[in-house]
Amino acid sequence: MKNNIGSPLKKAFIGSMIFLVSGTFLPLSTNAQTITPAKIDALKTELMGEIDKQQKMTQEMVDMVFSFGELGFQEVETSKYLTGILKENGFTIEQGISGIPTAWTAKWGSGKPVIAIGSDIDCIPKASQKPGVAYHDPIIEGAPGHGEGHNSGAPLNIVAMLALKKIMQREKLSGTLVLWPGVAEEQLATKAYYVRDGYFKNVDACIFTHVSNNLSTGYGPIGTSGMISVKFNFEGEAAHAAAAPWKGRSALDAVELMNVSWNMHREHMLTSQRSHYVIVDGGDQPNVVPSKASVWYYFREQDYPLVMKMYKDGIKMAEAAASMTDTKMTYEVLGSAWPGYMNQPIAETMYENIKQVGLPTWSEADKTLALATQIELNPNAPDLQKGLATTLSPIGKAVPGASFSGGGSDDIGDISWNVPTIVLGYPANISGLKGHDWASAIAMATPIAHKGVTAGAKAEALTVLDMLVKPEILKEAWKYFNDVQTKDVKYTPMISKTDKPAVSLNKKIMNEYRPEMTKFYYNPAKYKTYLEQLGIKYPTVRPASNK
Ligand SMILES: [Zn+2]
Repeated sequence: MKNNIGSPLKKAFIGSMIFLVSGTFLPLSTNAQTITPAKIDALKTELMGEIDKQQKMTQEMVDMVFSFGELGFQEVETSKYLTGILKENGFTIEQGISGIPTAWTAKWGSGKPVIAIGSDIDCIPKASQKPGVAYHDPIIEGAPGHGEGHNSGAPLNIVAMLALKKIMQREKLSGTLVLWPGVAEEQLATKAYYVRDGYFKNVDACIFTHVSNNLSTGYGPIGTSGMISVKFNFEGEAAHAAAAPWKGRSALDAVELMNVSWNMHREHMLTSQRSHYVIVDGGDQPNVVPSKASVWYYFREQDYPLVMKMYKDGIKMAEAAASMTDTKMTYEVLGSAWPGYMNQPIAETMYENIKQVGLPTWSEADKTLALATQIELNPNAPDLQKGLATTLSPIGKAVPGASFSGGGSDDIGDISWNVPTIVLGYPANISGLKGHDWASAIAMATPIAHKGVTAGAKAEALTVLDMLVKPEILKEAWKYFNDVQTKDVKYTPMISKTDKPAVSLNKKIMNEYRPEMTKFYYNPAKYKTYLEQLGIKYPTVRPASNK
């Protein structure tokens, strides 16, 4: 998803009007009787102190995952590393959930409530970038990199939950913590499968963490688009393109015709839509009529019915293109996401804790890097040259009557329609960037990211503690979920019962770059930080922008 969770959530969501029979739900917790408000305050202070003590571990994990730089479905080293730490700390790992080799759950504790804690772990193609350097300077030219900051959320969750686990053990608090990774989030390709396969069935609440440039949360429709990702494959007949072109049927012609029709159709679509495509196979060489060609689309809209309408329109055009070129067409769903809708009572609990935690203290070096990066990216936009966040953004909520203007998606949406969920944004990145590129990786293995993760871990740990010891929060959360959020809108998965996660996506790219990337994996035994390992002076800025 685009890194916009931190901005006030201002977009309205017009849901489909299907009635849902609300279930009743009462989480059982025995924690409440034994803990006084003063005791809760003391535990919170202790939690924050404990997370501060773990800053070295935080830095190591953030830097390590940054150095792995693995694309969706290929997060092999990342998952091995993270589950290794969790296993060492007494969590029970279930590897390969939903048939996805790099997906897992890590459970600790027992009884109610069951709190799921998630964050994405995949990165962005061609986003390789030296951290701490305020201009384009890849570690490996063309290689993937953490140009979305997904190297930071899972470390945040681990630090927060290890601190909380200590307190739960000592205070004998009932509750089960379930950590899980957003695998292949950039392909919107796994969370709907986790939901379909029952991994959120007995969960009482979910906290999802996402990199941002402020410490923030919100509730209601958060303005992320619903989306379905579909690859259309055409098959024709190869022939010598010069000697016998009349014997060939071009699959590439079909792809081009489909794209031409979609682009004409675009003129007549609602302004809330976003759709984009890449031609993943356009044939091999010009003198061979392409017998195979494929085009991959993301169809995005503000709600389920509108996404499905786009999907149907796409299929219709693909069929027509196949008919025009006398080729055969098949299509496959590679991912999907519901628009996100977050839980008010949990968000309000989180926001109180956010206020208690506050924003990190930025050093001169942090500020210099942020400003230089903003100037590099937006030389003519002084309003985007704001440096790092120094005031908390207000709690995000939809503005009544505002129209949906479209934007990125996150498959946390699917989970949010099945379990009361919130997203915690944490200030580990720089504002004013484009997202999904090398520049968004600059801060992600520097003290900016480390401090942002520490602040986020505190807010998260405090909020989960609240949910464990104040059962009324989850009671209210489910009331909101049943009576407000899902009153008129029923979750219908976009994937079918037989769709399978597209686990071989990105294999080829990772196979190409991994051997070279391995040489740059972080070695914490030898270097204090990844910056030190790469020999980067922090910050490194162009002389002209260092003012
Ligand atoms: Zn993201």
